This record gives sequence, structure tokens and C-alpha cells, in this order.
Amino acid sequence: MIYFRNDTKEYISWLERHPNAYVLNVSTGGKHKAMLHTSRCGHLYQPDPMLAHTETNPKACSRHRDELERWGADASLAVSPCPDCKP
Ligand SMILES: [Zn+2]
Repeated sequence: MIYFRNDTKEYISWLERHPNAYVLNVSTGGKHKAMLHTSRCGHLYQPDPMLAHTETNPKACSRHRDELERWGADASLAVSPCPDCKP
């Protein structure tokens, strides 16, 4: 698993190289929520390189869905699957 925060360039690079992986979109600001997406979900892909993607919403990324779910639980995040890409 890899965690991107304030590193949009590296995140976009990872996303391009992992078409069959998972991304946990983390809410900051005390909400303790995260949404699990596939790496080609329309909510994430294709990312606009001119926008900040990992500042208010850091991304935990992995090829293994269960790894992200465990990480989210350990971080006390309420993880919900995206209703659109249905990971
Ligand atoms: Zn999604």
C-alpha cells in the first residue's frame, strides 16, 4: 500500500501505472470517512494534473482491496464502497 498526501504528481503517476487497483479517498477535517474506488472509477480518472488531488483528500492506494479496508479500519475511518464503481 502507498499513501499520497500533498503529492499529486506521484499519485497521478501511480494511478496511470495501476489500471486494476483500488484507491481509498480519505476525507480530512475530522470526518473520519473514506470512500473506496477502483482505480478507473469516473470519480478519479482521468485526473486533471492542474488540480490538487491529495491535499484535502489524501489517497491510500493498493492492488489489494482488503489491504485498504484493513488500513482504513486501523486509521478509525468509516470506509464505504463507491456506489458508482462498486469495488
Ligand atoms: Zn468509484
